[in-house]
Amino acid sequence: MSEKEKINLLYIDDDRDEAISAYLEGDYQNNVYDVNYQEIDFGSNQDYESLLDSEKVTSANVILIDSRLFENDSIRDKGKFSGEEFRMILRKVFPFIEVLVISQNGENKEFEIIPKYRSGGSETSREYYDRVLKEKIDESIKRVKTFRNISKKLVNNKGIEKFLIEKTVDSLNGINDYEDFGIYHKKFAKIYNNKCAYCGALWGLLPVESFEVDHFLNIASFPDTTDGRIEAGKMINLVWSCISCNRGKRGITIKPPYDNLLNTDNGNIALIFKRDSDYYIRICDTYQDDEFIKKFYESLHLGYETRRLDYLALQLEGKYRNEKDENRRQKLGESLSLLLQKRNRIVNAGRSIQ
Ligand SMILES: [Zn+2]
Repeated sequence: MSEKEKINLLYIDDDRDEAISAYLEGDYQNNVYDVNYQEIDFGSNQDYESLLDSEKVTSANVILIDSRLFENDSIRDKGKFSGEEFRMILRKVFPFIEVLVISQNGENKEFEIIPKYRSGGSETSREYYDRVLKEKIDESIKRVKTFRNISKKLVNNKGIEKFLIEKTVDSLNGINDYEDFGIYHKKFAKIYNNKCAYCGALWGLLPVESFEVDHFLNIASFPDTTDGRIEAGKMINLVWSCISCNRGKRGITIKPPYDNLLNTDNGNIALIFKRDSDYYIRICDTYQDDEFIKKFYESLHLGYETRRLDYLALQLEGKYRNEKDENRRQKLGESLSLLLQKRNRIVNAGRSIQ
């Protein structure tokens, strides 16, 4: 007999309902699938981004979420949201996760909210959920299964761009496509002080689209499987990078000990490269003869004039921002704009090698 297919079922609530837990964990029966049940106790100090980052959420196939996650908070401030709002956000980020919303406040047809069980009636909670919830979960699982079936055909379709097929199948498997969402860009930029982790170019001075989220260890460093792509896409492997560094780095596979030596998050990379007195990026003396470091340096074009201008622009921008004297401030602003013009001329002239 073949093994049963797995379905991940997740329940999210700020105030866990025992009857629901008991039903989903024990009473809910699905003979066709191996249903793996998990829960998230949602704290009011959490926000939707923490849910979107949670592996329980990204690996879920069906989510049951409480409508009111901030029941105990009187002020509805930034970061708060309802279960039905989360359902919609999730539809945008992970279109293949099925979401059901429940509430203790009775039925709400307009938002498709399922009422929670209330004791006192003639039904037990199990009978109640068998009646109002089971069918909905079964339907959701059926839709998940349908897309799994289609995806098996899709991966063999030579007429559709391989890249698009991979993205689609990855999304079905809960792999977040960080690059597509502005919120992640902003979050990443902030972690890296808005600077490219490799060359230090400042995001604010360059066009918005000149920065990307880079896979520190490229996809080729991981097995060419869904699991491999999940590993590659994990937060710890993602780095804020300017396009020039990211594209230059593309073909490079970083293996030990270079994964540690070139680590951008613990500052190790700053020990490999330095700025010389003319502000060019150079390889430090210790690694002058290291072939891999040389290859990395050349592939990322770290020695280019533009890297130097980016650095000078960064310094000038800092001075400009802190200057109190209006005249001097204006002069600094003019110099900065001339510098950026010069930089962009170089970039445009060498577009093919950037
Ligand atoms: Zn860079």
